[in-house]
Amino acid sequence: DSPDNLVEGLVLKAYGGFYYVHDGKTQWECSLRGRLRHEKQQVLAGDRVQLRPGSEHTGVVEKVLPRRSLLKRPAVANVDQAVIVFSLREPDPSPGLLERFLITAKLNFIEPLICFNKVDLTREAQIELVSRYQRAYPVFVTSARTGEGVDRLRESLAGKISVFAGPSGVGKSSILNILIPGVGLRTGEVSAKLKGGRHTTRHVQLISLPSGGFVADTPGFTSLDLPDIKPEELPGFFPEMEEYNHECYFSGCLHFKEPGCAVRKAVEAGRIGEARYRQYVEFLEELMDRRRY
Ligand code: GDP
Ligand code: ZN
Repeated sequence: DSPDNLVEGLVLKAYGGFYYVHDGKTQWECSLRGRLRHEKQQVLAGDRVQLRPGSEHTGVVEKVLPRRSLLKRPAVANVDQAVIVFSLREPDPSPGLLERFLITAKLNFIEPLICFNKVDLTREAQIELVSRYQRAYPVFVTSARTGEGVDRLRESLAGKISVFAGPSGVGKSSILNILIPGVGLRTGEVSAKLKGGRHTTRHVQLISLPSGGFVADTPGFTSLDLPDIKPEELPGFFPEMEEYNHECYFSGCLHFKEPGCAVRKAVEAGRIGEARYRQYVEFLEELMDRRRY
């Protein structure tokens, strides 16, 4: 039973007890070794696995390699980057919501890219927004209607596992339809989408791109869940708070309601952005609520 015969690859799709694994050249249709079937952890699209080849590109998954990241709804492992899509118009972009997507991506150990879509509807809104975010993130300006900017976006997907995320109606499905020929996602049918909504049983599939990257074929990420971190780990994700940490009266201060909190003082003095702090508190309360149950 030598490990030399094992092939390593990426799970593109898990469906009906079968796992479709891509090794860079070939796709394998696999079942799971019994021992793995009894484990709590499911094998998901995005997992890297070792499989034992059988006949005719079938095989058995023997081992799941450790995960770097996990998104929950829909479930995809090892995502490298999230393309956070907002539209410049219809609907207008919400900076607060965008900030939330950006931070949650980082909390999930996923690099965020920003895509401002529907540039065919407006030119004015673009300049200010793009320059505001460009300093910190890669920014793309696109139109799924005219195709503008989509090639540049496509290049950024090379060699990575990417998902598209963003509110409903911003054009995620429309962009995916351009990037993945033949995927045929429905667009614009807002009420139908809401009905299908959250509990949709559609299975997420990673699509292999000619450039060597993989993209999830679902526009289902209308939010990104907070990962399972402890409240005391949260400040570590807000670098601008870090330099005040040691000045707080209590060590292990959560910068919430504690007296003598240097972070809160810095917010009042305008040295830490108020919007960022508000986002911090929102996440902190969510994490603390979870622990109560
Ligand atoms: P999703 O909910 O984010 O997947 O958004 P959809 O792709 O379903 O698009 C929502 C609506 O916006 C549809 O009616 C699309 O035709 C329209 N739409 C998408 N992209 C663009 C664009 O770049 N320009 C314009 N004018 N409309 C767009
Ligand atoms: Zn504090």
